Amino acid sequence: MGKDKKEIKPPSLYIHIPFCLKKCAYCDFHSVPFDGQLASRYIRALSAEAQRRAGEMIALGTAEIETVYIGGGTPNSLGIKELEILMGAVRRNFSLRPGGEFTVEVNPVFGNPDKLKLLFDAGVNRLSIGAQSFSARELAFLGRPHGVAEIERTFCDARQAGFQNISLDLIYAIPGQGIESWQHNVGKALSLQPEHLSLYELTPEEGTPLYSLLERGHAVMPGEEDALAMQQRAEEMLLKAGYARYEVSSYSLPAMESAHNLNYWARGEYIGLGAAAHSFKNETRWSNVTDPQAYARALDEGRLPVERSEPVSPDEAAREFVLLGLRTTRGLHMEDAEGYKLDLGKHAQPFVGGGLLEISGGRLRPTGKGFALLNRVTAELIEALGL
Ligand code: SF4
Repeated sequence: MGKDKKEIKPPSLYIHIPFCLKKCAYCDFHSVPFDGQLASRYIRALSAEAQRRAGEMIALGTAEIETVYIGGGTPNSLGIKELEILMGAVRRNFSLRPGGEFTVEVNPVFGNPDKLKLLFDAGVNRLSIGAQSFSARELAFLGRPHGVAEIERTFCDARQAGFQNISLDLIYAIPGQGIESWQHNVGKALSLQPEHLSLYELTPEEGTPLYSLLERGHAVMPGEEDALAMQQRAEEMLLKAGYARYEVSSYSLPAMESAHNLNYWARGEYIGLGAAAHSFKNETRWSNVTDPQAYARALDEGRLPVERSEPVSPDEAAREFVLLGLRTTRGLHMEDAEGYKLDLGKHAQPFVGGGLLEISGGRLRPTGKGFALLNRVTAELIEALGL
């Protein structure tokens, strides 16, 4: 496509571990309660899928990958033996480019120092810790299986293991959360001095316990203005502490942005392994079966566990380009837009005039006001572009 797409980069690798201790109240990710037997079977299947996918890549030249991200679910719910097998499968089959980012998501409830050391020694160089809150009441409301002390202990153990790149996830706009409590959470997170922070607004998804609680009137979500005030308060604190916002929910110290996530937002290619994992390569998206049992069965029987595969149409590609690119402060490269046959300059003008988007250095990006209204801005721009 345009300029950014021309530099041919190897794909990223995503690996899904679908086990959790228990379901959090707001969660609509693909996860099942941890089961030791199923976990061993699942990891064997993952190794087989890794071998198949790496084999396909080698047949085309190389199994080099740009970044690795192991997410879930809860990757560190796996035992030491399963983690060793998993790390071995990544190392044996793929070649992470020198200095490439290798992230593992960690839940503090399983924050075992031996597991963290194992991950570090196996080449993992970034951890993403799901802290979510530093208030015992809020953690209980969210149904998180850990307390505040476990977050702090996991963070210290991670530093002790050698990790110099740690991200913390926090959730805001939790029912009953006031701005003081949110400010306390951000302050506690900052006191740990992580390299990266992701701040997510709580979104009640249909089918979750949180959703029914709200429907029954047993809890009330903070209003839009309160949520925006929380985001803005956090931003002030983070900017003061030397972090910069580089994506709608992500802040980092200089040069500590998540390379894996930046690849997604730039429509870079990735291979997903595991139940419910998605992949994107050669303008085709495919996804694996979501049930871990069905996933393991397919690989046991020598089949690939792919459930759906479809080419991305030029209109969809253009829509993704706008939708994903506008999430970041890098924004959209105007030259790239030509590759998607979009007249971005013309259609973005009213938004630029309204102070929602700005153009500089050949890129179109949201202003601070644009970020606050991002969903609306993106939807209206996509409509104006006829996509
Ligand atoms: S730990 Fe994450 S994936 Fe697991 S239930 Fe909670 S929110 Fe969902």
